[in-house]
Amino acid sequence: MSPPLKRLVFLFCGLGFMFLAGWEAANVRETFRETSQQEVRAVGSEAPKVALTFDDGPHSQYTPMLLDGLKERGVKATFFIQGQNIEGNEEILKRIQKEGHLIGNHTFHHVRLSKVSEAEAVEEIERTSNAIYELTGVYTAFVRPPFGEWKKDLEFHVTMIPVLWTVDSRDWITQDKGQILDTVLPEVEDGSIILMHDEFESSVEAALQIIDTLQAEGYSFVTADDLLLE
Ligand SMILES: [Zn+2]
Repeated sequence: MSPPLKRLVFLFCGLGFMFLAGWEAANVRETFRETSQQEVRAVGSEAPKVALTFDDGPHSQYTPMLLDGLKERGVKATFFIQGQNIEGNEEILKRIQKEGHLIGNHTFHHVRLSKVSEAEAVEEIERTSNAIYELTGVYTAFVRPPFGEWKKDLEFHVTMIPVLWTVDSRDWITQDKGQILDTVLPEVEDGSIILMHDEFESSVEAALQIIDTLQAEGYSFVTADDLLLE
C-alpha cells in the first residue's frame, strides 16, 4: 500500500472508531436517562398515604352514615371505640369490622388515663377490648388514649400500641364542615393521621369531602396501622 493510501485507510478507521464511540456514548446516555425516568416514575407511583381516624363512637346515626360514604369511595378508616357506646350499637360495631376498617380502643368511659389509678386504667382498656372482642372476634392491638394522655407505664400492663395523631380536625369544637376542611386540608401530607369524631353530622360530611379532595390529589387512604408499622 502506498503511503497516501495507508493514511487514507487510517483516517477512515479513525473516523469510524470516533463515530462508533460517539454513538455508543449517546446510547449509554439515552439508556441512563430512560432508567432515571423510570425510577422517578416508580417513586412517583407510590401514592402518598393518609389515615382517617374516628374517636368516641359508635354513634347510632352518624357512624352508619359515615360507613356508607366510606364504602361508596372504597376507603378504609380507623375507629377508636368508646366501650360505653357499644351497647345498643352492636350491629354497627360488627359492620365496622365486616367492612374492613381497623378497630381500636378508646377506653370504656373516656377517662384521662394519666389521672386515674393504674388498676383503673387497665380496667378501662381491658373492659373495652373484651367488649370489642365479644362482638367482632378481634382483640385489638391499638389504643387511642382520650385527650392524647398515655402513661408510659401502661405499656407494661397492657400490650397495646398507643396511636396519637398528626392533624387535629378540631371537629368537635367547630362542628362546621367548612372550618374542618380549612383546618385539615392545609395540614395534610404523606403519612398524616387525621383525628376526627364520628358523632357529628358536620364531621361525617367534612370527612367525605376530605376524601374526595385528597383522592383527586392522588392520596390513598389507609388504616392507621399501615402508617405506624412502616
Ligand atoms: Zn375521645
